[in-house]
Amino acid sequence: MTFSQKVKSEILRSAKGLKGCCAASFLTAVIKSVGSISIDNRNFAFTVESDNRELPEVCQKLCVTQLGVDAQITDARFTSSKQTSYTCRFDASLGGKLHLTAADSDGSFTLCDAASLVPSKPCCARAFMQGLFVACGSVIIPLTDSDIGENRLHSKYHLELRFTDPDFLQAVSAAYAPMELKYTPRKNHGVLYLKDSEKIADFLVYVNAMSAKLQLENVIIGRSVRNRANRQRNCISANIDKSVLASERQTEAIERLKLNGMYEGLPDSLKQIADLRQKYPEATLDEIADMSGISKSGANHRFAKLIELSHK
Ligand SMILES: [Zn+2]
Repeated sequence: MTFSQKVKSEILRSAKGLKGCCAASFLTAVIKSVGSISIDNRNFAFTVESDNRELPEVCQKLCVTQLGVDAQITDARFTSSKQTSYTCRFDASLGGKLHLTAADSDGSFTLCDAASLVPSKPCCARAFMQGLFVACGSVIIPLTDSDIGENRLHSKYHLELRFTDPDFLQAVSAAYAPMELKYTPRKNHGVLYLKDSEKIADFLVYVNAMSAKLQLENVIIGRSVRNRANRQRNCISANIDKSVLASERQTEAIERLKLNGMYEGLPDSLKQIADLRQKYPEATLDEIADMSGISKSGANHRFAKLIELSHK
């Protein structure tokens, strides 16, 4: 099961318990996102189809128990992808109950404006977002090493909701402005997305996917520990590079002093440290200082003096 499927399954378990206004909001979001419309006796009839049986099942249960509207589940087999898909067919009266459709004075029906569908009550807004995510959402997180085999290894955090109706996308984006969902167009549809791991964690809390949120937090912590270890390793190797460079510069200076006959005239303190450097080219400044019985800054000062003299 992918992380996305885990999140959806967790949301669906929680959505089963939705009541009244919230159940209606959940159904509205699902039907508006992935539902299809047909004409039934001059009215609109809606169906929801999914390869995940849980989604139409939860929709059917909420529709029947919370709204008192009949709904039937039918199995249909796709020959092309050999995948079973499950359909929930709702009674035509559901459109009016969810305000998806409105009756005109002449008895015909029209579809309602997308913006009017997004609820403003906090309890319903949450149920609506749960419906949106299970219907048109997905999420990927970087999986840790032990998760390889379960899924492809991603290095990025990404959560998205896909919309085919641009007006509906606009309405959702405006209603959930505090979530700071970003927009990007794609072929044939628009996408609202989050890339920040903390914002994705907040989203999972909002839609009541608490165990998915814990899994995400473990990944975030694991990665920050690994990043810190990498940074430390890089830092140590940078210091080693610096000390190798310094040793090379000192050795060159000593060789120059010997070539131009200046070495013999040097004070003993400088000759001693020069000899140590030639004998131990890989020793650090600390180690040379220890061997000379002087401080690190003293050793540094003497090497600087050698380099300065070698340029005369
Ligand atoms: Zn509500």
